[in-house]
Amino acid sequence: MADINYEKARIPGEESGIEVKYSVCDICTPGSHCGLTCYVKDGKVIKIEGTKEHIYNKGKLCTKGRANRQYLYRPDRLLTPMKRTGKRGEGKFEPISWEEAIDTIAEKMLRSREKYGADSVAFYSGYTKWYRFMFRRFAHVFGTQNYGTESSSCFTSGVLAWQVAAKSYMIQDLANTDLFIGWGTSGYFSRWPMIGGMERGKARGMKVIIVDPRITPTTQRIADLHLRPHLGTDGALALAIAHVLIENGWVDKPFIEKYVHGFEEYAEYVKQFTPEKGEELTGVPAADIIKAAEMIHKSKSACITESSAPLGHHRNGMQNYRAIMSLLIITGNFDRKGGQRPQVHSFMEADHGYSSVSREEEFMEERFPHEGKPAVGAKRFPLWYNLKEDMQANDLARNILAKDEDSVKVLFALGMNYRMFAQDGKYLEAFNELDFFVNVDLFMTDTCKYADIILPACTSMERGEFKSYAGGYVWFTKPVVEPLGQSKSDAEILTLLARKMNFDDEYLCGGYEKCIEYVIRDLPYTIEQLKAADHPIQLPNPEVYKWGSTLEKGLKTPTGKLELFSELINSHPEWNLDPLPTYKPPYSPDPEKYPFLLCAGTRIPNALHSRLHDMPWERHMLPEPSVEMSLEDADKYGIELGDDVEIITNIGSLTFKAIPTATVMEGEVYIYHGYREVDINSILDGDNLDPYSGFPAYRSAYCNIRRK
Ligand code: SF4
Repeated sequence: MADINYEKARIPGEESGIEVKYSVCDICTPGSHCGLTCYVKDGKVIKIEGTKEHIYNKGKLCTKGRANRQYLYRPDRLLTPMKRTGKRGEGKFEPISWEEAIDTIAEKMLRSREKYGADSVAFYSGYTKWYRFMFRRFAHVFGTQNYGTESSSCFTSGVLAWQVAAKSYMIQDLANTDLFIGWGTSGYFSRWPMIGGMERGKARGMKVIIVDPRITPTTQRIADLHLRPHLGTDGALALAIAHVLIENGWVDKPFIEKYVHGFEEYAEYVKQFTPEKGEELTGVPAADIIKAAEMIHKSKSACITESSAPLGHHRNGMQNYRAIMSLLIITGNFDRKGGQRPQVHSFMEADHGYSSVSREEEFMEERFPHEGKPAVGAKRFPLWYNLKEDMQANDLARNILAKDEDSVKVLFALGMNYRMFAQDGKYLEAFNELDFFVNVDLFMTDTCKYADIILPACTSMERGEFKSYAGGYVWFTKPVVEPLGQSKSDAEILTLLARKMNFDDEYLCGGYEKCIEYVIRDLPYTIEQLKAADHPIQLPNPEVYKWGSTLEKGLKTPTGKLELFSELINSHPEWNLDPLPTYKPPYSPDPEKYPFLLCAGTRIPNALHSRLHDMPWERHMLPEPSVEMSLEDADKYGIELGDDVEIITNIGSLTFKAIPTATVMEGEVYIYHGYREVDINSILDGDNLDPYSGFPAYRSAYCNIRRK
C-alpha cells in the first residue's frame, strides 16, 4: 500500500493543488459580512473558515456562515435563465438563453411603460443588499418611484423613528458607555459580535440592562437587570421609565433647554405612566421599572441598541421606538461619548471614515423621478413615504389586486420571497394578476415558481464586491470560483437590462465597477488597488467622529432640535398620526377568542427567514416547525413536548410541534419562522400594519392554541 500523507493532502500548495482565497459571507446584513477563507481545489470550494486577518470577524463565523459551502452548492441552485411553461406556482420551466431572457424582460417592461406609464412597473429587492444603490437608481432612470425592498419590514422602522426625532439615524457607543441597554438584543442568536462588545464592557465595569420577554443566553449571561415586558408593550415600559426619571428630576435640564423640542408636552403625557401603570401594561414589576430608571440616572453615560425586528414588528412599533429613544434624549445621552451618535445608514454600511456615504446618497437621489406618481403605499403610509420615498412593499399586494389605474402590472424582483409578508397568500393572488413577473434568485424558491422568467444569480464567492468596515477599512473582493452554470451577479443583470433598454445613464450601462468608481471617487485608492489586497485595508487618516459636532452644526429637523414632539407629523393633521411618542396596546381582533400573544418571528441561530432551512447543517438543529409556550400554559392545555398544537388566528390555523419551556411567559407563544411546509406568516393578518411605518405586527399578533 502506498504511503499516503493525509495531512499533506489537506495543506494548500502545489502538491495538494489547494489554493487559499478570500471572500465575504453575505448571508446576513451588510453590517456584518464576515471574512471567509475559502480552500479551493479544481475550481471548487472544498472548505470554508472564518478569516483570522479580517478586521470584522477575526476568524469567527456564526452557525449560518459556517454553512456557506452548502449554500454555494445547494442542489437547487438555479443554473440557467428559465421561462415558465406551466401555470403560475406549478414550478414548470424550461431553460432559455440569456439573450432571450434579457430581450423578453426589456420588451415587457418597455411595453408596459408605453401603455400604462412607468409606474406600472415595480422593482423589488429582497436579500441580498449589496447592489441596492444601483437598483434604486435603475428604477428611477426607468422612470418610476416604485422601488421597494425587504426594508419595508426590517430595520427601517427604527431609522424612521430617529429621523422623526433627529433627522438622522443613531447608533450606540458600546465601546465607551457606562450603561448599555440592549432592547430586544439576543446576541448569541443574531449579531454575535455585539456579545464581544458587551463582555469587554462588563470587564471594565459597564452595566447592562437587557429588555426581552424571553429568557435567553444573553439575559442569563450578560444582563445586570433583565426586564421582561409582554410582546409589543415596549413603548409603555419606556414611558414608565421616563416617568420615574422626570418625577425624580433625573433628566438633563440644560441639555433639554438647549437642544430638545416638546419636552413639556412629553412630560405631561408620561405623567399617566406611573411605575404601577407600567407594571399593569407591560407585566414588568414596578420595582424593576424604578431600578432601570435609577441605573440610567447613576450612569455617566447610557446608550441603547434597539433591535430592529423585535421592536418594529408591531402595530405600534415605530411609536415604541420613539418612546425608547426619548429616554436618551431627556437624559442628554445624545451625541456625547458613551451615548448615541449619528450614523448615516447606507446599503454598503459605509459610514466608516470617509465620504462615500454622501456619494452613495447622491448616486441614488440624482435621478429620482420627482414628477412621477407617488410610490405604492404613499397614501396609506404617508410618514414612511415622506421620509423614505420608496414603495412600502407591504402595500404591494393590495395595490396589484385593486386592478385600477394605479396598479402595478409588471414586477421585476431580485431575491423576492413572498413568505416574508403577513397573510402572504395575498401575494400569491397578486402574482396571478400581474402581466409579467421576473424573479432573480440563487434557488428555485416558492416565489420563483410564480415568475414568468427566472434568472440565476450567484453568491458572494462567485463575484466581486466593494466592502467597507468601521475604522476606515475598505476592500474589493474577487471571485474565489467561477459562477456556477450560467449564473451572473445581480449587478451584471441590471447592467445587461440597462444597456438593452438604452438607459441614458453612463453608470448603470457601464456596470458595477463604474458605479462604485462614482461612489468611492474621494478615496485615495483605485478599485484595482483594493482588489489587489486579500483583506480590508485601512485608509490613511480615516475621519474620526467628533462628539458634539452634530448638535453644534444643528439638526435638520423642522425646529433644528431633537423633537420629542414631531413638528413634521404635527404639520400633517391629515396623516392622523400622533406628534408625541404615544402608546397603544397591540391590536387584538377579539380578545376572548384569541387570548394568546403570538410572536411569529422568533430568532434561532441557524436560520434567516426561509432561506437556510433547506440546508442540512442548518435544518438539523430544529427540523420541525415548532411553537414555544410556557410550562404553565402547557399544563393548563394538557400539552407535552412534541405534541401537535394548533395555532388559530383570525385568518386561519396551522399545526406545530410543542416545546413547553420555562423561558417564555404565560399567555405568550413563540414560533420560529420560515418553515415552508408550515408557514406562520400565511395566517397573520396582512392588514394589521403599523400606520407610521407600514410594518406588519409579526411579533404581537393574537391567537388561540389547541392540542390536537
Ligand atoms: S451570516 Fe454569520 S458569518 Fe455570515 S455575515 Fe452574518 S454573522 Fe457573519
